[in-house]
Amino acid sequence: MTVRLSVEGATKRYGGLTAVDDVSFVVPDRGVTAIIGPNGAGKTTLFNLISGAQPPTAGRVVFEGEDVTRLPPEAKAARGLVRTFQLVKLFADLTAAENVAVGTHLKTRGGFLSAVFRPPSIRRMEAGIAARSRELLDLVGLGAVADRKAATLSYGRQRLLEVARALAAEPKLLLLDEPAAGLNAEESARLSDVIRKIAASGTSVLLIEHDMTLVMNTADDVVVIDFGRKIAQGAPAEVKANPAVIAAYLG
Ligand code: ATP
Repeated sequence: MTVRLSVEGATKRYGGLTAVDDVSFVVPDRGVTAIIGPNGAGKTTLFNLISGAQPPTAGRVVFEGEDVTRLPPEAKAARGLVRTFQLVKLFADLTAAENVAVGTHLKTRGGFLSAVFRPPSIRRMEAGIAARSRELLDLVGLGAVADRKAATLSYGRQRLLEVARALAAEPKLLLLDEPAAGLNAEESARLSDVIRKIAASGTSVLLIEHDMTLVMNTADDVVVIDFGRKIAQGAPAEVKANPAVIAAYLG
């Protein structure tokens, strides 16, 4: 196994509260790793430390052998560490294909903001970007709605569109923040297939998720967080049977 991401003693304190407490784990260069835990356990904070949205109080984040702990999100994205958010953040008035095209700017055009301030150039998308956007929409099952405005898509499709947009930045590691939140069982099953396809294509995936069916069907490795601390890690079946996990979360 080659290590893609190594989280080493990650700690975040807010005054007297320790939201993330000395958490360490590695994400390999293939497969799907899930972070689970009760509400308020520190999962989102941990994600923020990894993606660069917040600096840790202590500890390190190492990506592909490089210490990226203090790098801002754009610099991490440019290296291939790309995230989505718990809440949908699409451009409502752009089409699905244009939203995906915006994602390519994360990698090539100096970040998201430059893309936001250049909508006309997106409308006259270069052929290469347009073709790639279509490919990614096909991958997530949205090829048929490429030309529809994001705002007109169902919530489940908007979530898949976010995944396609993140993929446009060519991540080596894709961080998905509760990708199944608000999805029905059928949409969640489709999302699980999409995540497996992404992992099979060589992009490793790290996700936070409350939907245990999705986690059990999709993840190769599960990290369990409770009160900011890692209490277990292992294969889904192993974690599911772990008494400490059952007491803290599954019970
Ligand atoms: P959920 O599953 O509900 O999204 P979570 O596991 O993602 O929860 P976090 O959002 O990371 O948990 O929160 C962990 C703890 O840190 C909580 O007690 C929360 O109130 C606290 N916390 C998070 N952000 C801040 C902040 N900016 N200032 C102070 N406390 C914070």
